[in-house]
Amino acid sequence: MKTFAQLGIPFPLFEAPISETSDYLGISQCEICEQREQHCFRLNNGDHVVVRCPQCQTENGLRANCPGTFACQSCASSLTLPGRSKREGVRICFSCLREGKGAIGKDTEFGAVWWENALLGHTHGVPGLKAAGFETVILDPEENWAGVRLSQEKLFELLRTPSFSTWQGEIWLFCCKSPMTYIGEWQSVSASLEEEESRKLFGQLTAEIEEFPNWDWESVSNPDGGVSLYAFQCKQCGHYRANYDMD
Ligand SMILES: [Zn+2]
Ligand SMILES: [Zn+2]
Ligand SMILES: [Zn+2]
Repeated sequence: MKTFAQLGIPFPLFEAPISETSDYLGISQCEICEQREQHCFRLNNGDHVVVRCPQCQTENGLRANCPGTFACQSCASSLTLPGRSKREGVRICFSCLREGKGAIGKDTEFGAVWWENALLGHTHGVPGLKAAGFETVILDPEENWAGVRLSQEKLFELLRTPSFSTWQGEIWLFCCKSPMTYIGEWQSVSASLEEEESRKLFGQLTAEIEEFPNWDWESVSNPDGGVSLYAFQCKQCGHYRANYDMD
């Protein structure tokens, strides 16, 4: 199972096999820089194309699934979403994505992270947020709605990373004041491990899952078991965490 690193286009926060994202389109023409034969990704619902205003140089995040013309948020000059096949979103090459010309929105344990959240330096938040070890920001006291403050650099890195495929929607995890690295679904993570190692990693991944149903290593390792375990590793402290869903 090939990874992006093996293709020569590594993502620090995505080490899983390429087959675990539906954002990757293969070799195509970038609709932003118009270079042909590039590794391309799809920007769509929840994603943004970042367009620099030619008049005032302000960066504007345009919603990738909303074709049309927009007013610059700073000087109101007219800006147009690039791309032709707009109903299917916008194709962006690896270089443009890594340079921040696009932003792939994420759902996380601390609420959504879209382009505007990275600019603000905090997640969109959730009601009744639990985030031990993180600096929180109260966003709506009446709803008990809070987000987590994170550096812009780390939030932009998350947006320059593909999303991973799930049954019910991805939820990205954090550790050490940073997004963790997605290392893959359990079937691929455990594929190359001996049983002893696999059982140990399973224990580490599931140790912190609250209300983890009564599943053990055997049931989750069964490819027909209908359970998917999404595994993350913190590249700063080495810690493992995971979340799960069902088909
Ligand atoms: Zn490009
Ligand atoms: Zn402008
Ligand atoms: Zn950590």
